[in-house]
Parts: sequence; C-alpha cells; structure tokens
Amino acid sequence: MSELEFIKGIGKATIDKLNKLEIYSVDDLITYYPFRYEVLKKTSLNDEHSVITGTIETIPTLNYFRRINKLSFKLETDNKLINVVIFNRGFLKEHLIVGKIITLIGKYEQEKNMFTASDIKLIDIGDSTHIMPIYHKVKGLTDKNINKYINLALEREYVIDYIPDKIIDKYKFLPKKESLNLIHNPSNNVKLKEALIRSKYEELFLFMLKINELKNKNSINNIGYSKEIDLEKINKFIDTLPFTLTEDQFKTLDEIFDDLKSSERMNRLVQGDVGSGKTIVAIISMYAMHLNNYQSALMAPTEILAHQHYENMINLFKDYDINIKEILGSTPKKDKEIIKEELKQGKIDMIIGTHALLEETIEFNNLGLIITDEQHRFGVNQRSSLRNKGNMPDVLYLSATPIPRTYALTIYGDMDVSSIKTMPGGRLDVITSIKKTKEIKDVLDMMSKELSCNHQVYVIAPLIEESDKSDLDSVYEIEANMKKAFKDKYNIGILHGKLTNEEKDIVMDKFKNNDIQILISTTVVEVGVDVANATLMVIYDAYRFGLSALHQLRGRVGRNNIQSYCVLISDRETERLNVLVNTNDGFKVSEEDFKMRGSGDLFGYRQSGDMVFNIADLKKDFDILLKARDDSMEFLKLDDTKYDYIKGLIYKAGNLD
Ligand code: ADP
Ligand code: MG
Repeated sequence: MSELEFIKGIGKATIDKLNKLEIYSVDDLITYYPFRYEVLKKTSLNDEHSVITGTIETIPTLNYFRRINKLSFKLETDNKLINVVIFNRGFLKEHLIVGKIITLIGKYEQEKNMFTASDIKLIDIGDSTHIMPIYHKVKGLTDKNINKYINLALEREYVIDYIPDKIIDKYKFLPKKESLNLIHNPSNNVKLKEALIRSKYEELFLFMLKINELKNKNSINNIGYSKEIDLEKINKFIDTLPFTLTEDQFKTLDEIFDDLKSSERMNRLVQGDVGSGKTIVAIISMYAMHLNNYQSALMAPTEILAHQHYENMINLFKDYDINIKEILGSTPKKDKEIIKEELKQGKIDMIIGTHALLEETIEFNNLGLIITDEQHRFGVNQRSSLRNKGNMPDVLYLSATPIPRTYALTIYGDMDVSSIKTMPGGRLDVITSIKKTKEIKDVLDMMSKELSCNHQVYVIAPLIEESDKSDLDSVYEIEANMKKAFKDKYNIGILHGKLTNEEKDIVMDKFKNNDIQILISTTVVEVGVDVANATLMVIYDAYRFGLSALHQLRGRVGRNNIQSYCVLISDRETERLNVLVNTNDGFKVSEEDFKMRGSGDLFGYRQSGDMVFNIADLKKDFDILLKARDDSMEFLKLDDTKYDYIKGLIYKAGNLD
C-alpha cells in the first residue's frame, strides 16, 4: 500500500500515474519540482503577443477538418465581445463553461474581431504577474492536477526537513513547508528564488554528507593488505610494450605501487585527458596484483569498451600464464555460470566486465584490486558497493573527463588523485573546424582525402535519446548520403544502441581491421574506443552536445602520430563550439564548459544513479555546493549523538551500502 493513499483526494488511479513519474512517497511528491515556470502578465488586446482575461459568453462549438479540430466561442473582455478560436484543443470543450473567467494567450485581429489563441489557461490570472509552475508530465496528468496533488500533500502532511537547525539559522532559511509552498505556488520572483535556493541547498547538503560520510568510512575502514611490488618482473613486462611509458604514467604507477605496498587500502582516482594512456597503467597494476597471487577486476561502462579492454589484455599477456575472462550483460547464462564458478574458485586471475561485475552473485576467491574505467559514468553508491566487493580490495578509478580542480575535490573528495598530464610522445593536436550544413561538400572532400590515404573516418549522428526511434532515422539518412557520395568505394558500418552486442562487436571488429572505412555511429563510441588508424571525426549537429562530450568524441582520433581532424557540423552556437577549435586540452575545455554553465550537464550526458538531482544543478549551483560541502564537513565533526540523525538522513538520501 502506498503512503500516497493516505492523502485525501488521491486515489488508486492517480497513484498509478504518479508512479510513472517515479513519485512513490509523500516526500517524492512534494519535491516533484517544476522544471520551469511560465510567467504571465496581462497585456492590451492589441499587443503582438497578447495575454488577456475574460468571461466565456457562449458554449464552445467544436469542428473537425481532417486531423485538425477547432474550438470557437465568444468571450467578453474589457466590456467588449470578441470571437475566440483555438486549434487542436478539443479536449478543453467541457472545461469551457459559460460564465467562467479564463486567460488567453494569442493574437487579436481587429478587422475580424477574432482572437486566435495559442493557449488557454483555465484560470483568472488577475492583474498582477502570474507565475505558473510547469512540471514534467505523463498522459492523464496536467500541470494543474500535479499542482493540486502536491498542495493536498503539503496541506496535510508533516514535512521532514533534512537541514539541521543550526544551518537553517545560519542562512535564515524559510521553514521547509513554507518554502515548498512558494515553489509550487509562487507569488513573486524574489520569494521564489529564495525558496529554490533552500531546496537546492538541501539536496546538495545531503549529497555532500554522503560523500563526506564515505570519506570518513573509508578512513575507518581502510585497513587492507600490503602487497609486494616485484619491480623486476613488472619492468620486464613494461619492456614488452610497443612504446615507452610517459613520465606521468610512471609517476602514477609509483603512486599506485606505494598505495599497494601500504597496508591501507588504496582509493585512488587517475585523472587524465582522452588518449593520455590510462588503460596501460590499469593493466600494469593488475599485473602487479597478479604477481601477489590476487585476482583483479576491471569494470567499464559500455560493453564495447569492456570487450576492447579484454582483447587488448589477451594480446598483451599472450605469452603469460594468466587466465583472463570477460563477463558482459550479453554473456550467455551458461558461460556466466562457469565464469562465476571459476572466479569463486580462484581459477580466473583477471576479469573484465560491465557493471554486471557488481552483481551480488559474483563472488571472488581473493579479489585484491578492482578498477573502474570512466569513473564519472558511475555514481557514489557504486563507488561504495565496489569497495564492499571481496575482502578489502584496493580500488582504482580512471576518469577521462578532467574536471576543474575545486570541483574534483568536491565530488571526489573521498579519493586520492593522480594526474596524467603529458600525452604520449609524437601525438599531434587534432585540428578542429566548424562547418555549416550547407558546406557539407567541404566535409565530404575532407573525408575523401583521408579515405584515399587509407585512413578511416567516424561520423557521429545527432541523436541523444537512443530510445527515440525517429532519431535512428538520422543514422540511416547519413548512410544514404554517404553511399551517394562515395558509391561503393568504401565500406560503411553502422553502430547504435539498438543493435545487439554481437552485432556491435562485429561492426567494431571490422572497423578495427579496416574492413569498414566509414563508421556511422551514435555516441556509443563516445568513451574509450581506440582505433589508431581513424584520423577524421565528423560530428553532425554538434550544437546538441556538451563541450566535454564533444572533446571525448574528438578523442577517438589523434591516437597515433598521423595528423587527425575533427569537423563539427553546426548551424548554431558556433561561438561555444569555438572553444574546441581553440584548444585540445581537456582541462581547458571543461573549465570553459563550466564557466558557460549552459544547458546540459558538466559531463555532457546524463549522470547515473545518485548524481541525478531533482532540483540542484552541480554546475549552475556550484556556489551552493561549496557551502554545502563546508557545512556538511563541519556538521559531521559535531558531537557523536548527532550521528544517528545523520545516518538516518543518508539512508533517506540513498542507501550507502
Ligand atoms: P585513455 O587514457 O583515453 O584511456 P588509452 O589508454 O586508450 O587512453 O591510450 C590511448 C592509446 O595510446 C592506446 O592505443 C595506447 O596503447 C596508446 N598509448 C598508451 N601509452 C602510450 C605511450 N606511453 N606511448 C605511446 N602510446 C601510448
Ligand atoms: Mg580509456
């Protein structure tokens, strides 16, 4: 039985709809924040965009023309009787009752005495400015319904305030209920802003409590096992690599080795720009662990990447007696069972996988090291469940999204950080340019030039939501255009999230072996993918992506000492995109991204798990985040009797274990 049922006025059918919005509790409901507000103020009838109120004088008539419907009625406004029409709002007919005062938005034509409404609000906005909350909805719920349910809950329920009294006093925050009331029923902008800040603070405070709690827990719970570093064997392995390690790779390895030697558990983040060579550092660490007879695990966010790591390691260790296996979501159940059994018995030395590795049914014999690649794709809770795998394993995180230092210290406050700043020698900066859609011929010429040198090309299709089928059309449209431009001269491959993993593997393998020269893909290749012979990255509708995501995509080329190029096709926002033309440095890109605080989040794609906030925006509300960080640290230092209270809060904010 849902807690929501206790609110009078909310029935079973409504609860089903609310559940679809992931509203399950009263707390979920009252913190279901509007994603924007509509501000309405009455204008004169003759304004270009006019907003008027008036009384309905006649019963509306509804007419249909093919797929269009039209509602018409008469309205009295300012002692004047006018005709009103609105298209495709047939469903409003029953709500437009004679005598009711409503608000219209649209345009009035004096000669015809006709008001064509683009929108109708079933309320009287009166003479003052009217601010209306707009919520994300599902079918069967309107802004008005949602608002009504929230108000019912607010009216009847006691709300739990997660901000400690001391902090409420410090910032003179409004009482929580009053604040929520303002957010859902705003009367003026100033008050609304104050209320929004309070809610953002609350969310960020809980987040930072969790991080800081994790940090404390790590320091209590950090007794691990000290390992020996067999430098001779490790160096012998390093000598077999086809390149020499960079100074920063060596430095990072030293830091990792120190951690492994220490009896404290390692909890280290390796930050380095795309292409800086983090993978080999991880692999050498796994080898060092193997020399101590411990198992190690490497976790990647996508199957493509996990599989790439697997193949890479099989190849690097082909002359060694090391048992390496991969476990993916798509691994057949039977094989999975065998792998699980072998892991448990300690027959597998190194395992590579996706987050399937976190499954509870996966047990290790003696897991000594666990590594996550592309750490920023995982959440804080996953960070904690990783540390709970096996018997006090060392933990290493790799992150390809260099983020500003203050920011890293905040959201990764519970880890030590190593940076790989130097790029492998001989690398040339990728030359980036911006082209308009109408300049597509230039782009095709560039493709031609690279392809004729036997190089390969990525083409990224502009789709964000892979679930949206119509978006997939863009992939096939690009394919058709490429076929037209290049005839049968080159092989074209297609990669998107809707393919099965087997299909993806086949395409990726072909691209790696140069059986495919043009790879048209969605952002599934965004992270990690490593094909050194690819020298041109073409990104359609680049304005749709965050700068950091674009930088990641660009990082798919220039992984060799051949000159590589990136073309951003965009008819908009070229100024923002210029940042990428001007720099190849991921730190600078993220600083700029950060400064602009534009739409899209810092990482350029949706965060997983607990990094999703209801109302706060890590980037826009960074100042609030810093306050919340300091306050939460201060708060955790207070007397121990408060500890239970905090535990309760953290539990509410998302289970840590
Ligand atoms: P990232 O840090 O983005 O994960 P990778 O680890 O995938 O980068 O490395 C990118 C490419 O550079 C790989 O092909 C890798 O083999 C190669 N590489 C790594 N270290 C070096 C080095 N010191 N010198 C030359 N190439 C290197
Ligand atoms: Mg990588």
